[in-house]
Amino acid sequence: MRLTIVAVVLVPSFLNAQAQPVPATTAIPGWQWTMDSVRKTVNAVRAGKSLQPKTWPDGKKVAVLLSFDADNETVTLRFGETSVGALSMGEFGARVGLGRVLDVLDERRIPASFFVPSVSLELHPEMATAIKKSGRHEFGVHGWIHEMNTTLPDSIERRLLTRALADLTRLTGTKPTGYRAPSWNFSPNTLAIIRDLGFRYESSLMADDRPYELLQNGQATGIVELPVQWILDDAPLVNPQGERYSAPRDVAQVWMDEFDKAYAEGTMFVLTMHPHIIGHRSRIVALELLLDHIRVKAGNDVWYATHGAAAEYVRREARLGEPVPRGRRQP
Ligand SMILES: [Zn+2]
Repeated sequence: MRLTIVAVVLVPSFLNAQAQPVPATTAIPGWQWTMDSVRKTVNAVRAGKSLQPKTWPDGKKVAVLLSFDADNETVTLRFGETSVGALSMGEFGARVGLGRVLDVLDERRIPASFFVPSVSLELHPEMATAIKKSGRHEFGVHGWIHEMNTTLPDSIERRLLTRALADLTRLTGTKPTGYRAPSWNFSPNTLAIIRDLGFRYESSLMADDRPYELLQNGQATGIVELPVQWILDDAPLVNPQGERYSAPRDVAQVWMDEFDKAYAEGTMFVLTMHPHIIGHRSRIVALELLLDHIRVKAGNDVWYATHGAAAEYVRREARLGEPVPRGRRQP
């Protein structure tokens, strides 16, 4: 009985503690929560209406959205780590991996989105020139130094994201419209911050494999979510130091199966890669195998697009309107 009382007192205070770091779990196990606490937790950020269009532009049957998160050294630096070996693995992304990725995209004239922590671009400003060269690609925000946003109080997360947006705008010459959270997670403040900064779409969450609108505390935000998934990411599957290593050709097969179902359903295929990971020789083969498979299987039925172009298309088709400023309800 005493435990029940503790739950009632502590859970709401955690949920209201907007400026506090987020623990991975609350101190109170879920079986001691009230239904109100359960609802408040799941409704903080939730999937709203589906934005799946009837068809894609020009009657295409499936959308293919490729993204490359150019993290490079920031995945090491964010922890304050100075390991020279680890930093060199990241440097590979800018020095070699990105060029290989761009060659594959150029050969096939495919557009893609590059989500870049701004520190990564400060270290390698030549990446911006290379990515901009074809005129097909888009830049998106991916944190300042790939910070662990879920561990940060509101003021620090907000300051870093504001700076990242300004830096990326300065270094690329264009203001990004899309956000991807470092490590694909939100703090209790992330959605409010990206709304305040004027982002139009988001691509870090996983409640669907079709586009949807994000809700905040049950209210429409007008922000388009282009959902991701760990099985559609090169990082966990091809890390030879991890416990889940798969051969790149096996990973390509997983991606082909994901594409085949998306094609059959007429939906969307979103794939996340990293130049410092996919850019290695045996792995760029996996990307080439996938793209060859898509060409043979679906040919002209495929709409390749940046995330930004896809977000605006589904926004128009669903008559979603503009992103809704916080504190104002959707008309
Ligand atoms: Zn990343």
